[in-house]
Amino acid sequence: MTRPVPQLTLNNGVEMPALGYGVFQTPPDETIRAVEAALQTGYRHIDTAAAYGNEREVGQALRSSGVDRADVFLETKVWISDFGYDATLHAFDKSAGKLGVDQLDLFILHQALPSRFDLTIEAYQALETLLEDGKVRAIGVSNFMPEHLDRLLGSTSVVPAVNQIEVHPYFRQSELLAKDAEHGILSQAWSPIGGITFYPGFGDQHRSTLDDATIGEIAAAHGRTPAQVMLAWHLAQGRSAIPKSVTPHRIAENFDVLDIELTGDELAAIDALDTGVRGGPDPVDITLDNFGTEIPEA
Ligand code: NDP
Repeated sequence: MTRPVPQLTLNNGVEMPALGYGVFQTPPDETIRAVEAALQTGYRHIDTAAAYGNEREVGQALRSSGVDRADVFLETKVWISDFGYDATLHAFDKSAGKLGVDQLDLFILHQALPSRFDLTIEAYQALETLLEDGKVRAIGVSNFMPEHLDRLLGSTSVVPAVNQIEVHPYFRQSELLAKDAEHGILSQAWSPIGGITFYPGFGDQHRSTLDDATIGEIAAAHGRTPAQVMLAWHLAQGRSAIPKSVTPHRIAENFDVLDIELTGDELAAIDALDTGVRGGPDPVDITLDNFGTEIPEA
């Protein structure tokens, strides 16, 4: 019998399935089929973002899947071009309108804007208002580095429930994980199986986590795949992970990880693969000039 997905309790008591399903780079015309497949497989946590351009299709898949809205944990993100108090309140209307829902389970700032931290704070204050008004069940951030968390915590009152950050065996961000834990912020891993280390167009390293010898040996020892071992590693260390796939057999493979029990030595061996080199853009370099893009109305 399949084991249930572990629930993680956020710092405000809301429960979130640890294993979710991501849709970054899933083209809108593939999103409905992919999200329906994920929901049929058993995922009950979907991660999208205003900037992914597929919120409308995620919402359509939710409705056509036959799964109750109340049974799905729906997470989306505010893009930086919608930062500012009023703009971020309106960003909620845009995202909720496209998704076709009245309430979001988790609404997070997609990035900090280090050069306009005033706007970042205002955006977060809008999330606090949305939380107070019951429009969102939890609020959080993404790609916030320790200094961004310090600045945010110093100027706002609700501690983020989640920090969604790049974490995979080649970039573990141990200090940031510790910082999140110190403040009761749940770390959620993006590119959990190292997608950023192998998808085309991102950097020229292309040393894929999927081809790693250590991960391969552990996978062979358990009779599982490298992707499954990486997901089991996140779950064993108490993180949320949101793997993305548009491929039905991988959608199923990535969900079939709940019975994998890695030993302490195996977890440590995966930890030791950290290169300290991120695959994604440095959060410090995000500006409206280089990353600002308009998010359409609902
Ligand atoms: P993932 O680590 O989830 O890897 C996705 C890639 O791996 C895709 O190319 C997919 O291909 C492939 N893949 C999936 N499963 C398997 C498998 N079992 N075996 C082999 N290959 C596989 O990377 P993502 O960057 O997509 O991260 C996951 C999610 O995290 C995103 O979808 C998004 O929701 C979130 N994210 C958030 C960011 C942020 O800034 N907050 C940044 C990046 C991601 P295919 O689809 O063709 O099957």
